[in-house]
Amino acid sequence: MSVNISEILSRPSCQRDYVVEPEMDKLLLRRTSYRISHKEPFTLSVQKKDNKLYITGSTEVRLIMLCDRCLTEVEQTFPVTIDRVYDPKLQEDGERDVDELSFLDGCMLNADKLIHDELVLALPTKVLCKEDCKGLCSICGTNLNLSSCNCSEKIADPRMAAIKDIFRNWDE
Ligand SMILES: [Zn+2]
Ligand SMILES: [Zn+2]
Repeated sequence: MSVNISEILSRPSCQRDYVVEPEMDKLLLRRTSYRISHKEPFTLSVQKKDNKLYITGSTEVRLIMLCDRCLTEVEQTFPVTIDRVYDPKLQEDGERDVDELSFLDGCMLNADKLIHDELVLALPTKVLCKEDCKGLCSICGTNLNLSSCNCSEKIADPRMAAIKDIFRNWDE
């Protein structure tokens, strides 16, 4: 959702609160995307001071991600804290931050873009459904949290088990 902040931009100093409702239903990344299972309206506060815009707000978004080991869907909660400064001078000097340009288009402030930026920074490098997730059997694909399979019996040889451990550690 974008809000028109022309009123703020036209004054030397001004502060307004806007209730914004995130419209995004997915977090789109270059190579993947995550479904958003929960989002809520929140207050975005915009202040103009010394020719800069100060944009703050906080909300919560939940994403559906996949466990890295067993590929089960996991709902993860992300607190989102927006605290951005927009300096139009930097834009004129050519020192523009490419990202800054896209959350403000003319007098339209894009709340979804602000949330997007925070989520991208908050994404974990690893997602697990639980700390001790047993993952999928590498041979038959059985989810070892739900049932067991007989594949491991074929690797009864202790030397093979040791090698398996090494591979398991690589996964960590
Ligand atoms: Zn898992
Ligand atoms: Zn198996």
